[in-house]
Amino acid sequence: MVRSALSPLPRHVPLLRHGFANAATSFPGSTAPPSAPPQPQLASLTPADIEHFLSFLPASQVQASLAPGSTAQADLDGYNTDWMGKYVGRSRCVLRPRTTDQVSSIMRHCYARRLGVVPQGGNTGLVGGGVPTGSDEVIINLGLMNQIRAFNASSGVLTADAGCVLQTLNTFLTSKGHVMPLDLGAKGSCQIGGNVSTNAGGLRMVRYGSLHANVLGLEVVMPDGRVLRGLRGLRKDNTGYHLHHLFVGAEGTLGVVTGVSLLTPPLSPAVNLALLRLPDYAAVLSVVGTVRAKLGEILSAVEYFDETAWAVVNGDGAAGAEVERQVFGADTVPPGVNLLIETSGSVREHDEEKLTALLEELLDGPHVLTGSLAQDETQLGRMWDLREGIAEACGKAGKVYKYDVSVPIQEWQNVLSTLRQRAAERSEGLIERVVGFGHIGDGNLHINVVCGRYDKAIEQLLEPFMFELVESKGGSISAEHGLGVQKAKYILYSKSPLELELMRKVKAAFDPRGIMNPGKVLPAVAVGEERGGLEGVLQGALAGAGAGALEAGK
Ligand SMILES: Cc1cc2nc3c(=O)[nH]c(=O)nc-3n(C[C@H](O)[C@H](O)[C@H](O)COP(=O)(O)OP(=O)(O)OC[C@H]3O[C@@H](n4cnc5c(N)ncnc54)[C@H](O)[C@@H]3O)c2cc1C
Repeated sequence: MVRSALSPLPRHVPLLRHGFANAATSFPGSTAPPSAPPQPQLASLTPADIEHFLSFLPASQVQASLAPGSTAQADLDGYNTDWMGKYVGRSRCVLRPRTTDQVSSIMRHCYARRLGVVPQGGNTGLVGGGVPTGSDEVIINLGLMNQIRAFNASSGVLTADAGCVLQTLNTFLTSKGHVMPLDLGAKGSCQIGGNVSTNAGGLRMVRYGSLHANVLGLEVVMPDGRVLRGLRGLRKDNTGYHLHHLFVGAEGTLGVVTGVSLLTPPLSPAVNLALLRLPDYAAVLSVVGTVRAKLGEILSAVEYFDETAWAVVNGDGAAGAEVERQVFGADTVPPGVNLLIETSGSVREHDEEKLTALLEELLDGPHVLTGSLAQDETQLGRMWDLREGIAEACGKAGKVYKYDVSVPIQEWQNVLSTLRQRAAERSEGLIERVVGFGHIGDGNLHINVVCGRYDKAIEQLLEPFMFELVESKGGSISAEHGLGVQKAKYILYSKSPLELELMRKVKAAFDPRGIMNPGKVLPAVAVGEERGGLEGVLQGALAGAGAGALEAGK
């Protein structure tokens, strides 16, 4: 188990674009950052709390290892352990409400008692946000709140309980001629409430935009138990602040989302998928530009995965080569990197004509070595499995440090090679693979660093190095997974001190007792904050010392 405990300020941190011009004079001699909230004094869970929960919830919805509960602590492991097995809590109480009223009663009690609460969806999050950091938090698992409340076929507005699984919603919508505006590898387990709370991006974002564009309203139980009933389903509503957007991406730190109303696009009758093999990353940059320009409105996904990702998902050597022969339908397939290009449209002939013309042009040119167009649903599914199976394959190959970052696509190769060089030179073989893939249509690079074990030394080799590197490229340290517990203390690598201060004020206004998902998103003290922002610590570190300045984590 690896814990992201607060570590001392690194000796070197890079120049950030945010921050104070002269931070040292902003907070002379200060050790406490100006916006850091007092740490909430949260209560310990007692048998009386469990008795209270049992007074309004059936015993089947209360799983507690604390008397009078009857669940063995080991039976709570699944709720306490994240998808990667990296973050492990010790909560002794999991509640599984079926209704918004039940969530409200739970929250009223937790608020009165100052008990920490961790909202949990499908527990597929990758930054440790959905599991507790200690033993006194109550986990509220939304899995039993799984009813579709309404669907309007003419407007495409779907209203559903937060615990509905993404894939279930998509299957329902497909039967109605619509589709969910998001799709991700974890679709069989993740829930729409979790998707909203992480502002999940995924595979269709290039076409339908982020959840900020598609969520029309939310029902949220506030920390004190009151219910914000905002399931209006209106596309246009400019009556003041758009509060529901604050819960999109809040990672359970502001309230418990219990209902979601969102806009779903019509199902496209014509879906085409092409897999291209390209010689190198320079070719990828050129082809992505051409694809965008030529496919325009029918483009629905552009995904990149390099040789390392191919190898991890298909097997190294002969095994991977055999899959290549099958997928590309050729006896020999030259080595290289891969692009998946999906189109979705309403007129099959029109889309096929556009895509075929593009593929012919690309295959005639220097940037594409070979390609394959899925001929039926089975082939289409097979090609998507190659891309969607990467995260799981990395998990099977070893313990994974995940970096989900936004970086201009021109920099992806630089970021990957810098990291690979560091791994080769300094990890003493502990880092086995650095796997690169991502939603290139959105500039979202995923790096999975596969190791034999979770190890503090590896973590320190990678962090904050990765975040400094991303910052130096003008990127974001979290493109779509959120901050959770993994990246909370590094928030100043992507936000200014003023933004952090305002976020803390929002948190204090919504959750004055600090009971919601303690330890996630907003750190007690962010790295660099004691000195008034990272910029003030070491002006020009990157400029002056080049890559040497990135040695902060050693
Ligand atoms: C194989 C795989 C592929 C993935 N691919 C992608 C991808 O392409 N794009 C992407 O963005 N993510 C991806 N993820 C990450 C993850 O699936 C998403 O973050 C997902 O949205 C999490 O949903 P969940 O229901 O599992 O939430 P959980 O993991 O249970 O929780 C995530 C966070 O949301 C909070 N939360 C959950 N439910 C609620 C609620 N009802 N109210 C308030 N807070 C809540 C939790 O407290 C936690 O902070 C992937 C994960 C895996 C394992």
